[in-house]
Amino acid sequence: MSDIVDLRSDTVTRPTAGMRAAIAAAEVGDDVFGDDPTVNRLQERCAALLGKEAALFVPSGSMANQVAIRAVCEPGDELICDEATHSYNYEAGGPSALSGVSIRPLPGQRGVFTVEQLEAAIRPRNVHFPVSRMVIVENTNNRGGGTVWPLDAVAAVSAACRTHGLHLHMDGARLMNACVASGRRPTEYTQHVDSVSMCFSKGLGAPIGSIVAGPRGFITRCHRFRKMFGGAMRQVGILAAAALYALDHHAERLAEDHANARRLAEALATLPGIRLDPATVETNIVIFEVEPTLGTAADVAERLRARGVWVIATGATKIRAVTHLDVSPTQIDRAIAVFREVVKSR
Ligand SMILES: *Cc1c(COP(=O)(O)O)cnc(C)c1O
Repeated sequence: MSDIVDLRSDTVTRPTAGMRAAIAAAEVGDDVFGDDPTVNRLQERCAALLGKEAALFVPSGSMANQVAIRAVCEPGDELICDEATHSYNYEAGGPSALSGVSIRPLPGQRGVFTVEQLEAAIRPRNVHFPVSRMVIVENTNNRGGGTVWPLDAVAAVSAACRTHGLHLHMDGARLMNACVASGRRPTEYTQHVDSVSMCFSKGLGAPIGSIVAGPRGFITRCHRFRKMFGGAMRQVGILAAAALYALDHHAERLAEDHANARRLAEALATLPGIRLDPATVETNIVIFEVEPTLGTAADVAERLRARGVWVIATGATKIRAVTHLDVSPTQIDRAIAVFREVVKSR
Protein backbone atom coordinates (compact mmCIF):
# COMPACT_ATOMS: atom_id res chain seq x y z
CA MET A 1 0.00 0.00 0.00
CA SER A 2 2.55 2.51 1.20
CA ASP A 3 4.69 2.28 -1.94
CA ILE A 4 1.78 3.35 -4.15
CA VAL A 5 1.50 7.07 -4.76
CA ASP A 6 -2.21 7.55 -5.39
CA LEU A 7 -2.68 10.84 -7.22
CA ARG A 8 -6.01 9.92 -8.83
CA SER A 9 -8.08 12.20 -6.61
CA ASP A 10 -8.21 13.87 -3.21
CA THR A 11 -11.23 11.64 -2.51
CA VAL A 12 -8.96 8.62 -1.87
CA THR A 13 -7.85 9.79 1.60
CA ARG A 14 -8.52 7.46 4.52
CA PRO A 15 -9.70 8.71 7.91
CA THR A 16 -6.76 9.34 10.25
CA ALA A 17 -6.52 7.83 13.75
CA GLY A 18 -7.66 11.16 15.22
CA MET A 19 -10.65 11.29 12.90
CA ARG A 20 -11.57 7.68 13.71
CA ALA A 21 -11.45 8.57 17.42
CA ALA A 22 -13.80 11.51 16.78
CA ILE A 23 -16.13 9.19 14.86
CA ALA A 24 -16.11 6.64 17.69
CA ALA A 25 -16.90 9.30 20.30
CA ALA A 26 -19.69 11.02 18.33
CA GLU A 27 -23.01 11.64 20.03
CA VAL A 28 -25.78 10.56 17.65
CA GLY A 29 -29.56 10.59 17.15
CA ASP A 30 -32.02 10.06 14.32
CA ASP A 31 -31.30 12.90 11.92
CA VAL A 32 -34.52 12.33 9.96
CA PHE A 33 -36.24 13.45 13.19
CA GLY A 34 -33.70 16.30 13.46
CA ASP A 35 -32.35 14.60 16.60
CA ASP A 36 -28.69 14.13 15.83
CA PRO A 37 -26.78 16.65 17.96
CA THR A 38 -23.53 16.25 16.03
CA VAL A 39 -25.21 16.83 12.66
CA ASN A 40 -26.99 19.87 14.10
CA ARG A 41 -23.69 21.21 15.41
CA LEU A 42 -22.03 20.70 12.02
CA GLN A 43 -24.89 22.42 10.17
CA GLU A 44 -24.79 25.42 12.54
CA ARG A 45 -21.05 25.66 12.30
CA CYS A 46 -21.10 25.52 8.50
CA ALA A 47 -23.88 28.10 8.24
CA ALA A 48 -21.71 30.46 10.30
CA LEU A 49 -18.51 29.55 8.44
CA LEU A 50 -20.18 30.21 5.09
CA GLY A 51 -22.15 33.27 6.24
CA LYS A 52 -25.58 31.78 5.45
CA GLU A 53 -28.81 31.42 7.47
CA ALA A 54 -28.87 27.64 7.38
CA ALA A 55 -26.99 24.57 6.16
CA LEU A 56 -27.84 20.94 5.41
CA PHE A 57 -25.58 17.88 5.61
CA VAL A 58 -25.87 15.61 2.55
CA PRO A 59 -24.14 12.36 1.50
CA SER A 60 -22.21 13.76 -1.48
CA GLY A 61 -21.20 16.88 -3.34
CA SER A 62 -23.31 15.78 -6.26
CA MET A 63 -26.37 15.60 -4.04
CA ALA A 64 -25.55 19.02 -2.57
CA ASN A 65 -25.58 20.51 -6.06
CA GLN A 66 -28.61 18.52 -7.22
CA VAL A 67 -30.83 19.48 -4.27
CA ALA A 68 -29.75 23.10 -4.75
CA ILE A 69 -30.67 22.98 -8.44
CA ARG A 70 -34.00 21.29 -7.67
CA ALA A 71 -34.75 23.80 -4.90
CA VAL A 72 -34.36 26.70 -7.34
CA CYS A 73 -35.40 25.47 -10.79
CA GLU A 74 -38.52 24.14 -12.49
CA PRO A 75 -38.61 21.94 -15.61
CA GLY A 76 -37.98 24.15 -18.65
CA ASP A 77 -35.54 26.37 -16.79
CA GLU A 78 -31.95 26.88 -17.88
CA LEU A 79 -28.82 26.69 -15.81
CA ILE A 80 -25.76 28.65 -16.96
CA CYS A 81 -22.25 27.50 -16.04
CA ASP A 82 -18.78 27.00 -17.43
CA GLU A 83 -18.37 24.00 -19.73
CA ALA A 84 -15.85 22.59 -17.21
CA THR A 85 -18.42 22.51 -14.38
CA HIS A 86 -18.87 19.33 -12.30
CA SER A 87 -22.69 19.48 -12.35
CA TYR A 88 -22.56 19.58 -16.15
CA ASN A 89 -19.94 16.85 -16.68
CA TYR A 90 -19.84 14.52 -13.71
CA GLU A 91 -23.26 14.26 -12.09
CA ALA A 92 -24.76 11.75 -14.52
CA GLY A 93 -27.04 14.26 -16.22
CA GLY A 94 -28.68 15.06 -12.88
CA PRO A 95 -29.92 18.55 -13.76
CA SER A 96 -31.97 17.23 -16.70
CA ALA A 97 -33.04 13.97 -15.03
CA LEU A 98 -33.92 15.33 -11.59
CA SER A 99 -34.95 18.92 -12.29
CA GLY A 100 -35.87 19.01 -16.00
CA VAL A 101 -33.29 21.72 -16.47
CA SER A 102 -31.27 22.41 -19.61
CA ILE A 103 -27.70 23.61 -19.32
CA ARG A 104 -26.02 26.45 -21.17
CA PRO A 105 -22.28 25.71 -20.96
CA LEU A 106 -19.95 28.69 -21.42
CA PRO A 107 -16.45 28.27 -22.89
CA GLY A 108 -14.41 29.94 -20.14
CA GLN A 109 -10.73 29.90 -19.22
CA ARG A 110 -9.86 26.88 -17.09
CA GLY A 111 -13.35 26.87 -15.59
CA VAL A 112 -13.75 30.61 -15.15
CA PHE A 113 -16.14 32.52 -17.42
CA THR A 114 -16.52 36.28 -17.70
CA VAL A 115 -19.51 38.43 -16.80
CA GLU A 116 -19.70 39.39 -20.49
CA GLN A 117 -20.09 35.73 -21.45
CA LEU A 118 -22.79 35.37 -18.82
CA GLU A 119 -24.68 38.48 -19.92
CA ALA A 120 -24.64 37.26 -23.53
CA ALA A 121 -26.09 33.89 -22.50
CA ILE A 122 -29.00 35.17 -20.39
CA ARG A 123 -32.25 34.62 -22.29
CA PRO A 124 -34.70 37.44 -22.89
CA ARG A 125 -38.15 36.64 -21.47
CA ASN A 126 -39.86 35.23 -24.54
CA VAL A 127 -42.24 32.30 -24.99
CA HIS A 128 -39.74 30.51 -27.23
CA PHE A 129 -36.88 30.34 -24.76
CA PRO A 130 -36.07 28.33 -21.68
CA VAL A 131 -36.09 30.53 -18.58
CA SER A 132 -32.62 31.52 -17.39
CA ARG A 133 -32.88 30.74 -13.67
CA MET A 134 -29.60 29.78 -12.11
CA VAL A 135 -25.85 30.22 -12.47
CA ILE A 136 -23.12 28.02 -11.01
CA VAL A 137 -19.54 29.07 -10.35
CA GLU A 138 -17.21 26.26 -9.29
CA ASN A 139 -14.49 27.36 -6.87
CA THR A 140 -11.97 25.84 -7.21
CA ASN A 141 -12.76 24.50 -10.65
CA ASN A 142 -11.80 20.84 -10.82
CA ARG A 143 -11.71 20.11 -14.57
CA GLY A 144 -10.08 23.49 -15.18
CA GLY A 145 -7.13 22.39 -13.01
CA GLY A 146 -8.00 23.52 -9.48
CA THR A 147 -8.51 27.10 -10.63
CA VAL A 148 -9.36 29.69 -7.98
CA TRP A 149 -12.15 32.04 -9.07
CA PRO A 150 -10.84 35.62 -8.76
CA LEU A 151 -12.95 37.40 -6.14
CA ASP A 152 -13.73 40.33 -8.42
CA ALA A 153 -14.96 37.91 -11.09
CA VAL A 154 -17.33 36.33 -8.55
CA ALA A 155 -18.52 39.81 -7.53
CA ALA A 156 -19.14 40.81 -11.16
CA VAL A 157 -21.08 37.61 -11.89
CA SER A 158 -23.04 38.15 -8.69
CA ALA A 159 -24.03 41.70 -9.67
CA ALA A 160 -25.23 40.48 -13.08
CA CYS A 161 -27.23 37.68 -11.42
CA ARG A 162 -28.93 40.20 -9.13
CA THR A 163 -29.76 42.49 -12.03
CA HIS A 164 -31.35 39.61 -13.95
CA GLY A 165 -32.97 37.86 -10.99
CA LEU A 166 -30.82 34.72 -11.28
CA HIS A 167 -29.88 32.47 -8.38
CA LEU A 168 -26.09 32.20 -8.02
CA HIS A 169 -24.78 28.94 -6.57
CA MET A 170 -21.13 28.29 -5.77
CA ASP A 171 -19.99 24.70 -6.09
CA GLY A 172 -17.36 25.04 -3.38
CA ALA A 173 -16.47 21.35 -3.24
CA ARG A 174 -12.92 22.67 -2.76
CA LEU A 175 -13.76 26.12 -1.38
CA MET A 176 -11.23 25.60 1.43
CA ASN A 177 -8.51 25.05 -1.16
CA ALA A 178 -9.51 28.35 -2.76
CA CYS A 179 -9.36 30.07 0.65
CA VAL A 180 -5.97 28.63 1.57
CA ALA A 181 -4.54 29.53 -1.85
CA SER A 182 -5.91 33.08 -1.90
CA GLY A 183 -5.61 33.86 1.82
CA ARG A 184 -9.30 34.76 1.88
CA ARG A 185 -12.04 33.75 4.31
CA PRO A 186 -14.92 31.64 2.94
CA THR A 187 -17.38 34.50 3.49
CA GLU A 188 -15.38 36.79 1.21
CA TYR A 189 -16.53 34.50 -1.60
CA THR A 190 -19.90 33.41 -0.25
CA GLN A 191 -21.17 36.94 0.45
CA HIS A 192 -21.57 37.15 -3.33
CA VAL A 193 -23.58 33.95 -3.81
CA ASP A 194 -27.09 32.87 -2.85
CA SER A 195 -26.05 29.33 -1.99
CA VAL A 196 -22.89 27.27 -1.66
CA SER A 197 -21.90 23.62 -1.40
CA MET A 198 -18.69 22.23 0.10
CA CYS A 199 -17.22 18.69 0.32
CA PHE A 200 -15.65 17.16 3.42
CA SER A 201 -14.60 14.07 1.45
CA LYS A 202 -12.04 15.78 -0.80
CA GLY A 203 -8.90 17.42 0.56
CA LEU A 204 -10.48 17.81 3.99
CA GLY A 205 -10.07 14.05 4.34
CA ALA A 206 -13.44 12.89 5.73
CA PRO A 207 -14.79 9.59 4.37
CA ILE A 208 -18.22 10.88 3.31
CA GLY A 209 -20.26 14.04 3.29
CA SER A 210 -20.94 17.51 1.97
CA ILE A 211 -22.80 20.60 3.10
CA VAL A 212 -25.14 22.93 1.25
CA ALA A 213 -25.81 26.38 2.73
CA GLY A 214 -28.06 29.31 1.91
CA PRO A 215 -31.17 31.22 2.98
CA ARG A 216 -33.53 29.36 5.36
CA GLY A 217 -36.34 28.95 2.80
CA PHE A 218 -33.91 27.53 0.26
CA ILE A 219 -32.51 25.05 2.81
CA THR A 220 -36.07 23.98 3.74
CA ARG A 221 -36.60 23.09 0.08
CA CYS A 222 -33.21 21.35 -0.12
CA HIS A 223 -34.22 19.32 2.97
CA ARG A 224 -37.34 18.08 1.20
CA PHE A 225 -35.44 17.17 -1.97
CA ARG A 226 -32.70 15.45 0.03
CA LYS A 227 -35.45 13.15 1.34
CA MET A 228 -36.94 12.73 -2.13
CA PHE A 229 -33.54 11.85 -3.64
CA GLY A 230 -32.93 9.27 -0.91
CA GLY A 231 -30.25 11.18 0.93
CA ALA A 232 -31.86 11.51 4.38
CA MET A 233 -29.78 9.50 6.85
CA ARG A 234 -30.26 8.35 10.45
CA GLN A 235 -27.46 8.22 13.08
CA VAL A 236 -25.24 10.18 10.76
CA GLY A 237 -23.48 12.08 13.55
CA ILE A 238 -20.63 9.62 13.07
CA LEU A 239 -20.02 11.27 9.69
CA ALA A 240 -20.71 14.79 10.93
CA ALA A 241 -18.06 14.17 13.62
CA ALA A 242 -15.56 13.33 10.87
CA ALA A 243 -16.52 16.53 9.05
CA LEU A 244 -16.11 18.64 12.21
CA TYR A 245 -12.76 17.01 12.83
CA ALA A 246 -11.76 17.78 9.24
CA LEU A 247 -12.65 21.47 9.64
CA ASP A 248 -10.60 21.65 12.84
CA HIS A 249 -7.54 19.73 11.69
CA HIS A 250 -7.35 19.50 7.91
CA ALA A 251 -8.19 22.93 6.49
CA GLU A 252 -4.98 24.88 7.06
CA ARG A 253 -2.80 21.93 6.07
CA LEU A 254 -4.20 22.13 2.52
CA ALA A 255 -1.25 24.51 1.98
CA GLU A 256 1.00 21.40 2.11
CA ASP A 257 -1.00 19.79 -0.70
CA HIS A 258 -0.67 22.98 -2.74
CA ALA A 259 3.11 23.05 -2.18
CA ASN A 260 3.34 19.39 -3.21
CA ALA A 261 1.30 20.04 -6.35
CA ARG A 262 3.45 23.02 -7.25
CA ARG A 263 6.67 21.04 -6.80
CA LEU A 264 5.31 18.16 -8.87
CA ALA A 265 4.21 20.58 -11.61
CA GLU A 266 7.57 22.35 -11.73
CA ALA A 267 9.37 19.03 -12.14
CA LEU A 268 6.95 17.70 -14.77
CA ALA A 269 7.20 20.92 -16.78
CA THR A 270 10.89 20.21 -17.41
CA LEU A 271 10.27 16.72 -18.86
CA PRO A 272 10.31 16.08 -22.61
CA GLY A 273 6.87 15.27 -24.04
CA ILE A 274 4.94 16.87 -21.19
CA ARG A 275 3.25 20.21 -21.70
CA LEU A 276 2.47 22.06 -18.50
CA ASP A 277 2.65 25.66 -17.30
CA PRO A 278 3.34 25.44 -13.55
CA ALA A 279 1.82 28.92 -13.12
CA THR A 280 -1.60 27.37 -13.82
CA VAL A 281 -1.26 25.14 -10.74
CA GLU A 282 -2.91 27.24 -8.05
CA THR A 283 -4.09 24.54 -5.64
CA ASN A 284 -3.85 20.72 -5.40
CA ILE A 285 -4.72 19.72 -8.96
CA VAL A 286 -2.11 19.29 -11.70
CA ILE A 287 -3.40 18.86 -15.25
CA PHE A 288 -1.01 18.43 -18.14
CA GLU A 289 -0.87 17.36 -21.78
CA VAL A 290 1.23 14.51 -23.11
CA GLU A 291 2.66 14.83 -26.60
CA PRO A 292 2.17 11.98 -29.12
CA THR A 293 5.84 10.96 -28.71
CA LEU A 294 4.85 9.54 -25.30
CA GLY A 295 1.73 7.76 -26.58
CA THR A 296 -1.80 8.56 -25.46
CA ALA A 297 -2.66 9.83 -22.00
CA ALA A 298 -4.05 6.38 -21.22
CA ASP A 299 -0.74 4.75 -22.29
CA VAL A 300 1.25 7.08 -20.05
CA ALA A 301 -1.15 6.54 -17.13
CA GLU A 302 -0.74 2.78 -17.55
CA ARG A 303 3.06 2.98 -17.58
CA LEU A 304 2.95 5.14 -14.46
CA ARG A 305 0.58 2.73 -12.77
CA ALA A 306 2.86 -0.22 -13.46
CA ARG A 307 5.51 1.68 -11.48
CA GLY A 308 3.21 2.53 -8.55
CA VAL A 309 2.10 6.05 -9.48
CA TRP A 310 -1.63 6.32 -10.03
CA VAL A 311 -3.10 9.20 -12.06
CA ILE A 312 -6.18 9.61 -14.23
CA ALA A 313 -6.26 10.20 -18.00
CA THR A 314 -9.03 12.81 -18.28
CA GLY A 315 -8.82 13.07 -22.06
CA ALA A 316 -6.97 11.59 -25.05
CA THR A 317 -3.92 13.74 -24.28
CA LYS A 318 -4.70 14.98 -20.78
CA ILE A 319 -3.65 13.61 -17.40
CA ARG A 320 -4.73 14.77 -13.94
CA ALA A 321 -2.72 14.30 -10.75
CA VAL A 322 -4.15 15.43 -7.40
CA THR A 323 -2.28 15.89 -4.13
CA HIS A 324 -3.91 15.28 -0.75
CA LEU A 325 -3.58 14.34 2.90
CA ASP A 326 -2.24 10.86 2.13
CA VAL A 327 0.57 12.00 -0.18
CA SER A 328 3.80 13.01 1.56
CA PRO A 329 6.61 15.16 0.14
CA THR A 330 8.72 11.96 -0.05
CA GLN A 331 6.04 10.32 -2.18
CA ILE A 332 6.07 13.37 -4.46
CA ASP A 333 9.82 12.81 -4.90
CA ARG A 334 9.11 9.19 -5.81
CA ALA A 335 6.41 10.23 -8.25
CA ILE A 336 8.76 12.68 -9.93
CA ALA A 337 11.43 9.97 -10.28
CA VAL A 338 8.88 7.60 -11.81
CA PHE A 339 7.70 10.25 -14.30
CA ARG A 340 11.36 10.73 -15.34
CA GLU A 341 11.72 6.99 -15.96
CA VAL A 342 8.47 6.82 -17.89
CA VAL A 343 9.32 9.63 -20.30
CA LYS A 344 12.83 8.21 -20.78
CA SER A 345 11.62 4.70 -21.48
CA ARG A 346 10.13 5.90 -24.79
C1 LIG B 1 -16.01 16.02 -6.24
C2 LIG B 1 -16.81 17.17 -6.67
C3 LIG B 1 -18.19 17.25 -6.41
C4 LIG B 1 -18.97 16.17 -5.73
O1 LIG B 1 -18.60 14.89 -5.95
P1 LIG B 1 -19.22 13.65 -5.15
O2 LIG B 1 -18.35 12.56 -5.61
O3 LIG B 1 -20.62 13.56 -5.53
O4 LIG B 1 -19.08 13.95 -3.68
C5 LIG B 1 -18.84 18.38 -6.79
N1 LIG B 1 -18.21 19.39 -7.38
C6 LIG B 1 -16.89 19.36 -7.63
C7 LIG B 1 -16.24 20.53 -8.25
C8 LIG B 1 -16.15 18.24 -7.30
O5 LIG B 1 -14.85 18.21 -7.58
